[in-house]
Amino acid sequence: MKEARPADRAARPRKKEDPAERSRIMRAVKARDTAPELAVRRIVHRLGFRFSLRRDDLPGKPDLALPKYRAAIFVHGCFWHGHRCRRGARTPKTNVAYWRRKIAGNRARDRRVRGALRGRGWRVLAIHECQLKNAGAVARRIVKFLKRGAAAPAPQ
Ligand SMILES: [Zn+2]
Repeated sequence: MKEARPADRAARPRKKEDPAERSRIMRAVKARDTAPELAVRRIVHRLGFRFSLRRDDLPGKPDLALPKYRAAIFVHGCFWHGHRCRRGARTPKTNVAYWRRKIAGNRARDRRVRGALRGRGWRVLAIHECQLKNAGAVARRIVKFLKRGAAAPAPQ
């Protein structure tokens, strides 16, 4: 929306970091029960599926786990997980290298976690916050995702 290119460029050199911005974002990432998480829980709940929250015995502590389906659902902030959308493409004005590294690290961790869950026979669905603008579409995706795994035998 507001792309203040010249201002960006002016602000970038030598401005070391913006502690206020960083701490604001760090607070946001630490926050539990964020609005997108609550929205996904509401959707899954309304669909009538039972789930548990952040089971710490599972890799990556999935935001929602549905043991009956051996299905894990993550709710990702677009910025933090480098989603291919407008919000995900946003680059902070300061500390560009820091944020790039941080987001690349998050994405690498996402991949590791997905691999670890799959290795244990779980299936993984990631929902990004921007997708929640269309709750109906998210609900359909979740149903499809869960139904696909419904026939799978549950090891353990
Ligand atoms: Zn997004």
